[in-house]
Amino acid sequence: MEVPGSGHRSTGQCACGAIRYTVHGPLRPVMNCHCHRCRRITGHFMAATSADLADLLVQSTETLRWYEAAAGVFYGFCSTCGSSLFWRNDDEPGRWSIGAGTLDPPTGLETRSSIWIAEASDYHEAPSGSTRLYD
Ligand SMILES: [Zn+2]
Ligand SMILES: [Zn+2]
Repeated sequence: MEVPGSGHRSTGQCACGAIRYTVHGPLRPVMNCHCHRCRRITGHFMAATSADLADLLVQSTETLRWYEAAAGVFYGFCSTCGSSLFWRNDDEPGRWSIGAGTLDPPTGLETRSSIWIAEASDYHEAPSGSTRLYD
């Protein structure tokens, strides 16, 4: 599978700039997660790419905090500005999700899928079906 952004160096940061990161490897296409946790934590839904942890370098972690939303499921955010940057799951410790909006554009990425649509709130016209792949 051809992965957008492969072979490129991507950079990103939180809103206040205290947390900066670099990805030296391929990024997964963006997936929108509408689950109830992502909805509350982001205020809408999580649009996330992901990277192999071996390719991810977080330059400054002083303000990085982790919220354990469920057993083994963690959301990483900046304690200064509140930006949601990362998501990780103990079931897949070698891979972190990255909030796509925290990447410096152009990202070269495309939004390809949408999950947990049934948990989207009623104000939001979410894509139909259980998993919708964007063409
Ligand atoms: Zn910040
Ligand atoms: Zn979610």
